[in-house]
Amino acid sequence: MDAFTPHLLDGKVNLKNLLPTEMEQLMLALGQPRYKWQQIWRWMYVRLVDRFEDMTDLSKDFRRKLEEVAVIPSMGLHLHQQSEAQDTDKFLFKMADGSLVESVKMKYLVGHGRIAICISSQVGCAMACSFCASGLAGLQRNLATWEIVDQVVQIQKAVEPLGQRVANVVYMGIGEPFHNYEAVLRSTRIINCGEGLGIGMRHLTISTSGLVPQIRQLTAEKLPIRLAISLHATNNELRNQIMPVNRKWPIEELLVACREYQEASGRRITFEYVLLEGVNDSLAEAEALGRMLRGLHVLVNLIPWNPVDGAPYERSRPGRIRAFQEKVEAQGPKCTVRQEKGADIEAACGQLRLRDMAGTAKSKERRQRGDRPA
Ligand code: SAH
Repeated sequence: MDAFTPHLLDGKVNLKNLLPTEMEQLMLALGQPRYKWQQIWRWMYVRLVDRFEDMTDLSKDFRRKLEEVAVIPSMGLHLHQQSEAQDTDKFLFKMADGSLVESVKMKYLVGHGRIAICISSQVGCAMACSFCASGLAGLQRNLATWEIVDQVVQIQKAVEPLGQRVANVVYMGIGEPFHNYEAVLRSTRIINCGEGLGIGMRHLTISTSGLVPQIRQLTAEKLPIRLAISLHATNNELRNQIMPVNRKWPIEELLVACREYQEASGRRITFEYVLLEGVNDSLAEAEALGRMLRGLHVLVNLIPWNPVDGAPYERSRPGRIRAFQEKVEAQGPKCTVRQEKGADIEAACGQLRLRDMAGTAKSKERRQRGDRPA
C-alpha cells in the first residue's frame, strides 16, 4: 500500500486523488479482481455517490473493507449564487481548513444541455498581476487533485436535476494552474476518464499567465488539451509592470513555447487580452498584437476589465474595444470580445473575485503597504 502514501487523507486512501491505473492497483492490493475499479469509479463519477454503503453492487464485505482503508471526500457547498445580470452561477466551496474555493457555471449551453464551467486551481494566486483581485491577495495554498476534481463533481451534481451536463471545463478560475502543475494534470486525467465524467481533453482548457517551462512540459505530455495564454501586453516593458511573471519569462520566449505547443498538438491557442483604458488599448498595440501572432493559429480574446477595488485602472470604452478588435483582425488573427452576458466561455470567469472573504481586505492592505510580491 506504500504506493498510495501521497494520497492519504486522515490515514485512508483518498480515492478522488487516484488515476484509473492507481485504482486498479488498489483493487489488486486489496485482493480484488482488477475490473472492480470501474465499478467504484462509476459510482463516484457517474452516479456521483460518495458513500461506500450506497455502492450496492459491491459485496457487503468489500464495502466494509473499503470503509476501513479508503475515503471519498467531497467539498461542502458553501454558497450557490445565481446572477442573472452576469449570466453565470457562482459556486463557493468551503474546505476543511476554512479556505474558500470558487467555481463558475456559464448559463449558456454549448448544446443539448451541455454546459461549460470554470474552475480554480489554487487558493489565491502568487502571480500578482496588477489588475487581478486574486493575484493581489497572494497565494494561500495549492488545491489538491481531489479538490480540483470535486468542483466538477459537485457542479455536475447540482445541474443534473436540470437535465444538464458539464461538457467543457476551463482552468481559468482562481490561481495559476501551471503553478500547481502535477495536481492540475492529474485532475485532467481523472475528469477525462471515459468510465466516469468522460469530458474529452479537447474540451478542457488550461489558462496560464505564461509559465514557459510548464508550457513545455504540457507539450511533452502530448495531450490535446486547449491552451489559453494571458498576454495582456505587446511589449516587455509594460508586461513586466502589469504581470511580474514576464520578468522571468518574457514575451519572446513565451511565444516560442506557444509555437512548440502548437506544432506538437495542432491545437489553436487562445490569447487573452484584458483591455485597460489608456494602458494597453491603443491602436498601435492592437496592430503589434495582430502582427506578433501572425503565423500562429490563434484566437485573440479581448476581455473588458472587471473593476477591482483599489486597482488603478479603468475598463476601455466600448468604441475603443471595437476599434482594437478591428485593428487586430486587420493583421490576420481572429479576434473576439468577451460579451458581458457570458457568451464566451473562455473568458467569462476572469472576473472571479472573492468579495465575501478576507482576500479582498488583504489585497487592499497589501496595496496600501505597497509590498506586492515580485
Ligand atoms: N492564472 C491563469 C488563470 C486565471 S485568471 C491566467 O493568468 O491565465 C483568468 C483570466 O482572467 C486571465 O486572463 C486573467 O488575466 C484575467 N483576469 C484577471 N483579473 C481580471 C479582471 N479583473 N478583469 C478581467 N479579466 C481578469
